[in-house]
Amino acid sequence: GAGADPLLTVEQALMQFGGLKALAGVDLTVRPGTIHGLIGPNGSGKSTMMNVLTGIYKPTAGSVTLARAGGAKRLDGRTPSEIAASGVARTFQNVQLFREMTALENVLVGLHHSFRGNLFDAILGTPRRRREEREQRARAMAILDFVGLGPLAQVEARNLPYGKQRLLEIGRALALDPVLLLLDEPAAGLTAPDIAELTAIIRKIRDAGITVILIEHHMDVVMGLCDRVSVLDFGHKIAEGSARAVQEDPKVIEAYLGS
Ligand code: ADP
Ligand code: MG
Repeated sequence: GAGADPLLTVEQALMQFGGLKALAGVDLTVRPGTIHGLIGPNGSGKSTMMNVLTGIYKPTAGSVTLARAGGAKRLDGRTPSEIAASGVARTFQNVQLFREMTALENVLVGLHHSFRGNLFDAILGTPRRRREEREQRARAMAILDFVGLGPLAQVEARNLPYGKQRLLEIGRALALDPVLLLLDEPAAGLTAPDIAELTAIIRKIRDAGITVILIEHHMDVVMGLCDRVSVLDFGHKIAEGSARAVQEDPKVIEAYLGS
């Protein structure tokens, strides 16, 4: 809710590539249980922010803090796998799947990050190991059902229509059991019916208690989904508020007209 402490706090994030400040000191707070939109013209720093949040880039300066039950956890300076283990999952602007694996196998790969089997079990195929494998497959199937891919579980990722590949990527991210899910332009290149399906699933994810940061160019998707929106331009945050308020903000209109 509006009064809750933030789940994610970014303070003065600076990301410098040579002389270019892709992020020029950005503050961002994301409240738990919300869909937080991140918008801005091409090259404004949206994907860079995702990469900083997930440890792909180490910020030149600034901090990223995630609130957890045991206390606040600093994420900046951690590796991508440490950050994923802290409960932050993502999808990429360009679909990244194991193309030769089935939809089910792609989700199982995500689940294996949290798998606590030991080598002895793995080699001998002990009953406990076999039971855990059955449980993992059941969980993977539940995730595929959640994103509407249950009937396509045995189809190789490369043979799925593009819209379904997008949903599979979200399913694989959900397999990490995240508290925070980052989606980088999930609606890019999708047809209108695909966008409607995606929108419903993102809303379902939020309603399941997972906080979402959504980078999106389709303003109707942003308007329909986002509880709050931050706007970047040339690495600066130029506006923040409800989707409606930022859409009518003269600074935002000017930034888009200039791009
Ligand atoms: P957006 O996702 O908002 O379109 P990006 O975050 O991808 O923008 O890029 C912001 C700016 O940072 C752009 O000028 C881009 O060229 C630059 N940039 C992003 N990543 C790198 C990198 N690894 N090396 C150099 N420049 C980069
Ligand atoms: Mg981008």
